[in-house]
Amino acid sequence: MAEQPDAQQPLTERVVIVTGGAGFVGSHLVDRLVERGDRVVVVDNVVTGTWDNLAHLGDRIERVEADVSQGLALDTLGDRTPDTVYGVCHLASPASPPAYLALPVETLMVGSEGTRHALEVARQRGARFLLASTSEIYGDPEVHPQPETYLGNVNAIGPRGCYDEAKRFAEAMTMAYARTHGVSVRIARLFNTYGPRLRAEDGRVVSNLLTQAMENRPMSIYGDGTQTRSFGYVDDTVDGLLRLLDSDVQMPVNLGTPTEFSILELVEAVRQVTGTTAEVVHLELPTDDPTQRQPDIGRAKELLGWKPEVTLIDGLHRYADWLSAQTA
Ligand code: NAD
Ligand code: UDP
Repeated sequence: MAEQPDAQQPLTERVVIVTGGAGFVGSHLVDRLVERGDRVVVVDNVVTGTWDNLAHLGDRIERVEADVSQGLALDTLGDRTPDTVYGVCHLASPASPPAYLALPVETLMVGSEGTRHALEVARQRGARFLLASTSEIYGDPEVHPQPETYLGNVNAIGPRGCYDEAKRFAEAMTMAYARTHGVSVRIARLFNTYGPRLRAEDGRVVSNLLTQAMENRPMSIYGDGTQTRSFGYVDDTVDGLLRLLDSDVQMPVNLGTPTEFSILELVEAVRQVTGTTAEVVHLELPTDDPTQRQPDIGRAKELLGWKPEVTLIDGLHRYADWLSAQTA
């Protein structure tokens, strides 16, 4: 196994590459890495992200605009990385259902070739590798809540298959690099995350409902709204990602908030936070929309000492403040 730089290495010498770092979750991860003194190289093609998310960091980070599915060869990065890289965090991928449904081939490519390219950099630079995987690998789960040992119920040929199978392939490729090349790997299975920098027009449920409520437009519920999700605030998610990156945990870890809400309950929470009088409108339920989703976070608690801290109401307030500031 290649020698891995350890978490105790002096911070000023540590370099972390973040693919997808101009996106919602990635940009918060970059903030935290910079805050603690790491040198960060962000690689992003801004297909769903924006460099605006990192504008406040000025020249404190390196930016590389590139499609990681095409390559993340060391020559792409030029002389921007030193010989030793502490971590490669692979977050690049469309993540919102409307985004990946519009970009199915690109989504499969970034999960497959993009992941392989990021793993190659980790192998060549002796870095630890962190994959941002997803609860979506459990598909429409028949086991509830979902522990990491649950193998999932995914429809490979349905429209969501492009995202679910891309991430399942990405996990398989990650494990193949661990077994074949001894790369030190971490797999984070993120559950629905929201918060500042989740674009108003991203299309996911929290951004949709909150922006609709704030503009007093009808709130869109797909289907009857009895389907459930577990919503995590981005600061908690990123705290979990950092703990996992710095840990020696080489098995998948769920990062999510175990409190489960139906979409109807989410609407009530949005009403409470915004005081909106907006009505609801029921729209067609997308094909293969999972009926329930709730993480079992026993592994994250035990191995990382991690648990989410921000309640849904607090998180919605913080996110609503950010959305208001965008339009002010
Ligand atoms: P996002 O769309 O805001 O960010 C994804 C970033 O990846 C964007 O900046 C985009 O431009 C970039 N990207 C996409 N394809 C690329 C490519 N081929 N080359 C280079 N860059 C590319 O989404 P997000 O919510 O921040 O998600 C980040 C990661 O976390 C994704 O991998 C996603 O699958 C995973 N995840 C997120 C959630 C969530 O609820 N936010 C849940 C589960 C998993
Ligand atoms: N949803 C909804 N209204 C919206 C957007 C989504 O009711 O405006 C539902 C969607 O059908 C799903 C849940 O909210 O059941 C979460 O959707 P999202 O796209 O945020 O993430 P998913 O968990 O499906 O990837």
